Amino acid sequence: MPRLLLLLPTTTYRTAAFLGAARKLGVEVVVASERAHVFQQAQPGRFLSLDFLHPDQAARQVVEFVATRPIDAVVGVDDATTVLAAVLSNALGLPHNPVRSTAAARDKYRMRTLLRGDDVPVPPYALRSFDDDPVVEARRTVFPCVVKPLMFSASRGVIRADDEAQFVGAVRRLERILRTPEAAADGEAARQVLVEGFIPGREVALEGLLVKGDLHVLALFDKPDPLDGPFFEETIYVTPSRLPVAVQAEIASCTARAAQALGLRDGPVHAELRVNSHGPWVIELAARSIGGLCSRTLRFGTGLSLEELILRQALGMEIPSLERERRAAGVMMIPIPRAGVLKDIRGQTEARAVPGIDEVAITAHPGQDLVPLPEGASYPGFIFARAESPERVEAALREAHRRLEFVVMAPRESKGAV
Ligand code: ADP
Repeated sequence: MPRLLLLLPTTTYRTAAFLGAARKLGVEVVVASERAHVFQQAQPGRFLSLDFLHPDQAARQVVEFVATRPIDAVVGVDDATTVLAAVLSNALGLPHNPVRSTAAARDKYRMRTLLRGDDVPVPPYALRSFDDDPVVEARRTVFPCVVKPLMFSASRGVIRADDEAQFVGAVRRLERILRTPEAAADGEAARQVLVEGFIPGREVALEGLLVKGDLHVLALFDKPDPLDGPFFEETIYVTPSRLPVAVQAEIASCTARAAQALGLRDGPVHAELRVNSHGPWVIELAARSIGGLCSRTLRFGTGLSLEELILRQALGMEIPSLERERRAAGVMMIPIPRAGVLKDIRGQTEARAVPGIDEVAITAHPGQDLVPLPEGASYPGFIFARAESPERVEAALREAHRRLEFVVMAPRESKGAV
């Protein structure tokens, strides 16, 4: 039985999907996470606690582990683990993406530099430090611009500014976000910001699988809600794309060039691009699959999940099909209605009853603080739909969302409901 080392950060949404896929494939899983697992004592061969922030130390531990229990593949499930997966695979002599490529895909500045160096269209950008005076920086900035941290994901800390005053406000706000202990773990990167030209246009997300350097497009998602800022909250993703076929082909080739520029060769990629009259622009390319619960929109061949494809590839198992099912599919990452403490989400039965809705998955729990962007990073839940056309999927998602009613109490400092 092949044995897989699965890197599961404690904050991931993907545990059930990856463990389910491994079970279906008959693969033995060793779960590695940052904290000691309650079952670790009872089943030492099945759980490993690794220091995700110190890959070299983690590699030594894993090398020791495989002396008695060999590992056939290492898979990191999301952003926080892509670099570690490459380091561990390297230490075990397993095929993997170059460590520096996965690291570049995690660092927005290095990514921009590599992409621009290979003539992949990216926004104009400049690296700034919090030691620089934002008032002075504002004078030499071209507007509109986007201010963003180097290492975060899920649009956290990404802020548009249209003039000098907004720029100064955005930089100071981002600085406060990056002062949290969690961000400080990024070291010097938490003292820097990237300032980019704002690229207008329609945004798409490309889900792909790299196989020996070739990009296979698994799905291209339209994002029908405008993402013009000042914050960039993701909402609806619908596939197949309604863009003209020629534009979709340009998006795919631009993404393939971006992966090549970074040196990525194998495994899942998730790219965000904007498309306007100049063609596609790469906003980002991550060496991981789509986040949250969004992979539930995707089925391949005779019903394979995205996670099964990823595990099959990592383990060198045959992949029967990379063809997505014919029906249109989509997801809404439910937007945070307002800051506060979640009490209840009503209307879930009514939302599930909308034709085309597959599932309403509420992931927030009563009593949870809802923190909107740019400070926050998680969604209260996800709505999934399938239908004959992307238009119907989009309409079903909007109707289901309209039926949900959020009961949110005022943030903890103040009193009373809002
Ligand atoms: P993250 O990795 O946190 O998602 P991104 O750099 O991908 O950060 O930015 C998040 C979102 O912000 C993008 O999906 C896009 O909608 C918007 N955005 C980021 N940079 C730009 C830009 N230069 N021009 C226009 N929109 C941008």
